[in-house]
Amino acid sequence: MNFANTPAFAEEQDKADALASYRNEFWFPTDERGAPLIYLCGNSLGLQPKTAGQYLQSELDEWQKWGVEGHFHGKKPWFHYHKFLTDNTAELVGAQPHEVVVMNQLTVNLHLLMASFYRPDEERYKIIMEAGAFPSDMYAVQSQVEFHGFDYDDAVIELKPREGEHTLHTEDIIAAIEEHADQLALVFFSGVQYYTGQYFNIPAITEAAHKAGVPAGFDLAHAAGNVALKLHEWNVDFAAWCSYKYLNSGPGNVSGVFIHERHSLNPETPRLSGWWGYREDKRFLMQRGYEPEPGAAGWQLSNAPVFGMAVHAASLDIFHRAGMKNLADKSKKLTGYLDFILKDCRNQNPNLRFSIITPDGERGCQISLLTDENGKRLFDHLTKQGIVADWREPNVIRMAPVPLYNSFTDIWKLGQALLTFTIS
Ligand SMILES: *Cc1c(COP(=O)(O)O)cnc(C)c1O
Repeated sequence: MNFANTPAFAEEQDKADALASYRNEFWFPTDERGAPLIYLCGNSLGLQPKTAGQYLQSELDEWQKWGVEGHFHGKKPWFHYHKFLTDNTAELVGAQPHEVVVMNQLTVNLHLLMASFYRPDEERYKIIMEAGAFPSDMYAVQSQVEFHGFDYDDAVIELKPREGEHTLHTEDIIAAIEEHADQLALVFFSGVQYYTGQYFNIPAITEAAHKAGVPAGFDLAHAAGNVALKLHEWNVDFAAWCSYKYLNSGPGNVSGVFIHERHSLNPETPRLSGWWGYREDKRFLMQRGYEPEPGAAGWQLSNAPVFGMAVHAASLDIFHRAGMKNLADKSKKLTGYLDFILKDCRNQNPNLRFSIITPDGERGCQISLLTDENGKRLFDHLTKQGIVADWREPNVIRMAPVPLYNSFTDIWKLGQALLTFTIS
């Protein structure tokens, strides 16, 4: 596609964009004069859907009206509230409905999933993952191996990019899995890397893990709602993601979980259990001896946090209407335009010294800029110009144009802000 760094070009793209009206369904933070900011930070915290308040109020009303009876009466009985999110969640990540459930928060779910899928023995106890993973993932994995009596440095293989490079080659990941096959117990990667924005080849990594005889699990915090996933078809064993980044469901909100049906429909799959995962028809008989609900729902521990889930339901309904495939198609163009604007402005303004580390062709919507010693200054300059991006130590600026609510004009305006950067 031929891009142009002009307002007319951006406007033309916005006019031709069938998803453009979704922008009006979100609240944008504003500057002190009330003008909406250019929000490129949906990778960190997505914007609030305007319908979120209604969905939440509706559950407060049910509680007011029914008290405890709200578990079985009302529009969406809380007894199986998770089911009201199941179809849209399955559609979003390319799963069968019984393979997904919304529960808890992300890191909690990573532990629950590793309880099921990290089953080390004396010979096979190693976990392979990317180096520089999101800290919570590193700490979760470290504590898992230590919990089983292994040593972090020995049991966790962290794959680093080749000398002088910033991201991994799929062939190197596969080679490492083959090399360590005899000692591996689990392959665990992110879907889209939070720092570099690299979208890992999930089906290829999964296939390599299975050849090595171990499960493949993914943290999809930066992938869910960003890229079009096909978790069932790709044969992924398990995955989890949060709902507050691209999924726009509010700070710290609930997490989604995928467990492939070959595991989740098997009542023998080991797990840590609680009453809410008990088979639904007998849950309230309060009997001794655990019988799981079939599917991922059989991993639930506690009764559903309905208020958070109501907000998440509001957002999932928007994704259902817009369609993840349509969003991913727009995303390629929009991020392509960001890539073009960044390079065009860098050519025009010699004060802009950054390199793009996110691999072209292996990315979702986020682009990560590796900056020089003036990086923080550049970031502060953008902030003053009404651009919300984010800064990640030691020297990366992340920008994520989100197809649901960002426009081509947003990107053109970012370019205007980049052109005025000076080093004085
Ligand atoms: C955002 C993010 C988290 C955050 O975990 P919480 O339990 O929701 O606080 C964990 N892992 C990755 C990869 C993330 O991007």
